[in-house]
Amino acid sequence: MRWWFAIKNAWQQRAYLKRFMCSADYQIHALEEVTPQKLEEANVAILVLDFDGVLAGHDAKEPTEDAARWLRSLSHSIGEQRIAILTNKPKPERVRYFAEHFPSILLVQGTKKKPYPDGLQAIAAYKGLPPHRLGLIDDRLLTGMLATCLSYTHGWYFYPARTHFWRHPIKESFFAFLRWFERAMVRIF
Ligand SMILES: [Mg+2]
Repeated sequence: MRWWFAIKNAWQQRAYLKRFMCSADYQIHALEEVTPQKLEEANVAILVLDFDGVLAGHDAKEPTEDAARWLRSLSHSIGEQRIAILTNKPKPERVRYFAEHFPSILLVQGTKKKPYPDGLQAIAAYKGLPPHRLGLIDDRLLTGMLATCLSYTHGWYFYPARTHFWRHPIKESFFAFLRWFERAMVRIF
């Protein structure tokens, strides 16, 4: 059961999870903060991006215009080979979008969804790098950030998440609740 795995491991990793809420070094508030220098300082060779909440609102088919612009500019400076997308929802439209616009960016689902570390471990293995050379940006504490704790990869908590309330009011409200709930839980732990 994924939720039980998340809660059990969140308890065990609580000290690490608290860092994402308390320390500015482990947070990102806008994609523009992610520069080649930042990756170098963190010794990150492969930047792994979550999709929903980071590149666009929930269920979007492609990144927002500004996220795509940032991705284009980062790809120019570090190369698409150093960027990967790890999403629990690799919808066909997304796969098509990346194949067309960013063909060398790796799009991964992982055999088991986050917070299982499988996706991050698969990217590390595919790139032939130790996991600590990967850095994941994700808007969820108990999925993405927990996966970084369990796979010994670098993590940046993306806060506040990107949303599209007017387009998916029910889904976005549900995920806003989940984000609030997991922050409360990590605080109590
Ligand atoms: Mg997300």
